[in-house]
Amino acid sequence: MDNHVHLAHNVHLGKGCILTAAVTIAGSVNVGEYCIFAGHVGVAPHITIGAHSTLAAKTGVTKSLSGGKIYAGMPAREIREQHKRDALYSEVMKIKKTIKEFREVTKTHRKQRTISKSVSCTGVGLHTGVESTITFKPAPDNYGIQFSRTDIKGSPEIRADIEHVVDISRGTTIGQNGVKIHTVEHALAAVSGLRIDNVLIELTAKEAPVMDGSAKDFVDALQSVNFIEQKKDRHVLNISKPVVYSDSKKEIDIHVVPADSFRVTFLVEYPLPALGTQYEAIYNMEEDFARDVAPARTFCFLSEVEQLREKGLIKGGSLSNAVVILDRRIKNGEINHLRKLFGIQDKVIQGQNGILNGKLLRFHNEPVRHKTLDLIGDLALLGISIKGHVTAARSGHASNVEFVKMIRKEYKEQL
Ligand SMILES: [Zn+2]
Repeated sequence: MDNHVHLAHNVHLGKGCILTAAVTIAGSVNVGEYCIFAGHVGVAPHITIGAHSTLAAKTGVTKSLSGGKIYAGMPAREIREQHKRDALYSEVMKIKKTIKEFREVTKTHRKQRTISKSVSCTGVGLHTGVESTITFKPAPDNYGIQFSRTDIKGSPEIRADIEHVVDISRGTTIGQNGVKIHTVEHALAAVSGLRIDNVLIELTAKEAPVMDGSAKDFVDALQSVNFIEQKKDRHVLNISKPVVYSDSKKEIDIHVVPADSFRVTFLVEYPLPALGTQYEAIYNMEEDFARDVAPARTFCFLSEVEQLREKGLIKGGSLSNAVVILDRRIKNGEINHLRKLFGIQDKVIQGQNGILNGKLLRFHNEPVRHKTLDLIGDLALLGISIKGHVTAARSGHASNVEFVKMIRKEYKEQL
């Protein structure tokens, strides 16, 4: 018996056993003759070890062992089986490592992509009410996302860039040299959410069509053609330290923290029965965006409608492109007015669910999903994909734009 060998009560050792350093045997164990215990072997109580057994170093015995064999591992197995397991384990670890490396490579070094051919959608603009056709066109490597007004001589182009934001009073408007394009966020969200890097977005008027108030039509159009992988690697901004935007007065917070891919989490709180507290999390943009975010429609509150009209906004607004949430009761005298405002042909009703005319939502939390859509569109104004997790609470276009400016400033060396 070597150093530090511990034998508990009622242990019976057969003759000729060798116990090397730090062997521990619990109570009521019966060891047959001529057994060899290498260092650091442990044996649980009430176990029988057959004669002529050899236990390799660090073997843990939890079940009785038949004699005449060599054992290893924890729990103890015949050494040949243990070797097989060790070999298998090391193979599994190698495969795991390869998968992890592959995931990293595909996440950070994916090639840029564009669409195989042009696709268009036609409709009215939500705020200006003008009819326009939006056409998404293939673009070369490193082109990024650019808009163009084909109704203006020379078809001036405006890059989708935070520096070009000229108005955020309701939607996001970009402009350059006096040329403006209103409500770019849904088209941008569609492109960015589908991970398209290079595209020219042509418009025949000053505002993108609102379609059904969501990005669904744009996404359907873009998904009707193929995505073409290009030569250059996609540009990705790796968020290595957090950026925090906070407006305590308005209780708005937007953060971005390091993550292994682009993720968005959004929280809104409205003290209205139709809304309440709503939450949305998109952890896999490629799989979730088209299904969970793109179909969520614009919403507004009844009490805002008059104000927006006075500001010259929502000229193209109707019940076919916006969900109107009732944050007050409809007054008797305003039924005709509302009918005109929202292009309602028949009756105007209060709606049991807190939504004008009882319109049904596409998701129980459609409003927060739309806020997520707007945020994804506004984040595209950074001009580069983010590898990081963006968490927003109660934000809108104005704060989204400020947040994107903060990221630009914080990471200006890498952009
Ligand atoms: Zn929107």
